Amino acid sequence: MIHGVFSIRTAPLLQHATITDLPDRPVTIEPAGTLVYHLERGAHSDKIPTADGGGVKIGQRLFLDSPDKGYCLAAQAGRITARSNLTGTFGQQLVEISISTTEDLQEYDEEFSDACRDPSLEKASLFFRGLPGRPDFLPLTDPRQQIERLVILGVDDDVQGCSNGYLVKHHINSVLAGITLLKKITGLSESWLFVPDYLEPLLPTSSSAVRTVKAGYPEANREVIRKRICRELNIPVADDRCAFFSAEAACALSAVCSEDTRIPGKILTFVDKCGKQSLVSTPVGTPVREILQYFGETLHEGDRLVIGGPMKGTAVFSVDFPVSSTTNAIMVQDRRDIVETEDVACVNCGACVRVCPVDIQVNMLIRVLEVGEYEEAASRYNLFSCIDCGLCSYVCEARIAVFQHIRIAKTALDYA
Ligand code: SF4
Ligand code: SF4
Repeated sequence: MIHGVFSIRTAPLLQHATITDLPDRPVTIEPAGTLVYHLERGAHSDKIPTADGGGVKIGQRLFLDSPDKGYCLAAQAGRITARSNLTGTFGQQLVEISISTTEDLQEYDEEFSDACRDPSLEKASLFFRGLPGRPDFLPLTDPRQQIERLVILGVDDDVQGCSNGYLVKHHINSVLAGITLLKKITGLSESWLFVPDYLEPLLPTSSSAVRTVKAGYPEANREVIRKRICRELNIPVADDRCAFFSAEAACALSAVCSEDTRIPGKILTFVDKCGKQSLVSTPVGTPVREILQYFGETLHEGDRLVIGGPMKGTAVFSVDFPVSSTTNAIMVQDRRDIVETEDVACVNCGACVRVCPVDIQVNMLIRVLEVGEYEEAASRYNLFSCIDCGLCSYVCEARIAVFQHIRIAKTALDYA
């Protein structure tokens, strides 16, 4: 819950990339025989799965103890060839599952197919969460939340992501079909569609409740948009009653619930060491190694591989990490271009406090985070009001990895 005043007081330091700089079509990258999925084990799971060689169908849910803890959807059919335990980038306990895919096997999971033919809220929640854009129906199945409106984000929340902007520009009819389907599944009639301001002229005049988002970062952040809606409706943020879906999630829903039922590829932006951006479509589960190979990019000692954009992305230690249902960007940075963080004390310059959109006392927050006092960070310094924009790290004079400390603390408290 956000407790801060919530204001963007400084002029934007950064602007979002525009889709107009990218080609009209993404390159399609098909994995060469293996898909990889990361499943969270959860803090209290003591089950250590072993390789079993089991067959997997298209659309089959992959999970450990129970799908309630989260699941992935197999994008292609095949056979499980390996499972291993893994520690994620913020300490999450993961199990990595490798599937050897079989091109000539096009067998669909029966429960997934049934959900596609006859989607209800319950089935959508049970079977569609692993689709590209990760449509999340859980708030709609929670009676305490009393959701009244659908909010479709045709914008991308990091500065170099273009997945949703691409779909709004080139596949607006699929986005609108997905919104119609979401209304049918949820029984809600109110929907808001947020698009980059430069794409508004491309929308059909019949598109209702369209709002535009300026290019200044972090205007496209979900929490900033939530605040906008509440201000327009003159209601408290705690009473917003919104369910958020990305334009990509809406498109994926309309695709799998059509006659075709094929699971679309994940749309993402690939940024090479020279900063050149390319739009990619690839199945969820494709190892990043395959995308690097496609673009002829090689990692050398000290180079950095980032999954996500420059503000919210995470440096990963292996090219075997897979594209997930929410991977909107992959970046490779040459070691000579990396701005190193430093292990020095905060100089109390206040830049992070001035830039924080939710008025967190970041200079005080970092002091308790650095000594591992996460409970105090949450209770005294509004850790969970943070909207994950990363601006505090971006402006830090002392090059302290403030945002990384914040994410480690949030993950640790989630697991506590
Ligand atoms: S990431 Fe930093 S600047 Fe952004 S909301 Fe969180 S504390 Fe504030
Ligand atoms: S920007 Fe960095 S050095 Fe300045 S007050 Fe914030 S944490 Fe300290």
